[in-house]
Amino acid sequence: MSSAACIFCKIIKGDIPSFKLFESDKVFAFLDIQPLSRGHALVIPKYHGAKLTDIPDDDLLEILPVAKKIAKATGAVDFNILQNNGRIAHQVVDHVHFHMIPKPNEKEGMT
Ligand code: 5GP
Ligand code: ZN
Repeated sequence: MSSAACIFCKIIKGDIPSFKLFESDKVFAFLDIQPLSRGHALVIPKYHGAKLTDIPDDDLLEILPVAKKIAKATGAVDFNILQNNGRIAHQVVDHVHFHMIPKPNEKEGMT
């Protein structure tokens, strides 16, 4: 299931370019275009749905293992996994996505 109007569905199809980190049957991962830190990644189900509650369990189950692998690959010691649902919760893009945000120490900054 995909939505013609959705920017993340367009990224999955390759209609909008992205820096792809991982792809499987159910999951796609790419770098955030406005990173909060170096390596800030988005891990998304290929299944289109705006909120976590719209996504089948089978698709969700594959997300965290991918986020974990990307976190390890960045070498991040500390990191956040964030997932926003709805405008009040600061969701901007209406296709479920998990942020993986490395938290470098202050000396490292964005380098
Ligand atoms: P939200 O606030 O919905 O949880 O976060 C949406 C995220 O998607 C933001 O961090 C934003 O930078 C990222 N984003 C929005 N449009 C694009 C895009 O076209 N390409 C990429 N790579 N990231 C995007
Ligand atoms: Zn979508």
